[in-house]
Amino acid sequence: LVSLRDVRKSYGAFEVLKGISLDVGKGEVACIIGPSGSGKSTLIRCINGLSPIQDGSITVDGQEVNDPKLDKLSLRRKVGIVFQQYNLFPHKTVLENVMLAPLKVLREPRAQVEERALSLIAKVRLTGKERAYPGELSGGQQQRVAIARSLAMRPEVMLFDEVTAALDPETVKEVLATIRELAAEGMTCILVTHEMGFAREVAHHVYFTDGGVIVEDGPPDRIFREAQDPRTRQFLSQVL
Ligand code: ATP
Ligand code: MG
Repeated sequence: LVSLRDVRKSYGAFEVLKGISLDVGKGEVACIIGPSGSGKSTLIRCINGLSPIQDGSITVDGQEVNDPKLDKLSLRRKVGIVFQQYNLFPHKTVLENVMLAPLKVLREPRAQVEERALSLIAKVRLTGKERAYPGELSGGQQQRVAIARSLAMRPEVMLFDEVTAALDPETVKEVLATIRELAAEGMTCILVTHEMGFAREVAHHVYFTDGGVIVEDGPPDRIFREAQDPRTRQFLSQVL
């Protein structure tokens, strides 16, 4: 479903991604781990076309993301993204936040959008908070609203960039539970995470990045138990 071939990306003279290739099939969960500054967020932003690349190819569902003829809206619909900062609209309720994009971008009928929004709010276990404002919710609750908002566009792939990094330990669990359920329902997910236990349990494939390359990748059991590359071993010894 998502395929990267020798992707290169620079900021000025500084090359951040130095030839990244990976494939994520439908229903698969891929976790990207690696030290700070290794290019994980850049990679995620390139996959949904937020950030252009200099070389290589990225396709989602067979469509070249950097094709100038590609309809950006159709790509943004297919690829949901959730960041560490949830960026909810503070003056809109939970329900309004979740309904906004399908109403404004997809121009779907209000009744249908509302029905789906309510079911997504239930799915992220926030029934009863529909009329609350983001400021009245915990960080973990806000992050789950952000996930529901992204799902409201009915994406085929969800990208998560360190979505639990800013949360308290208790609320981290709730957000991970939501992602785990999505994955169990067959949603294709690409996650950047520092939650190694979660990666180990939920990922089908783990990619370790360092210095803009994928140093090592494989099923979580192999990466966490018998990483071959010294850089992977050193990183894991620091975070596990
Ligand atoms: P972290 O774990 O800290 O989130 P990361 O792996 O997500 O790190 P990126 O945010 O992708 O790393 O950044 C990779 C490198 O690219 C860093 O050296 C960063 O300083 C640089 N970089 C990121 N965004 C920009 C930008 N807009 N302009 C210039 N350099 C950038
Ligand atoms: Mg990052």
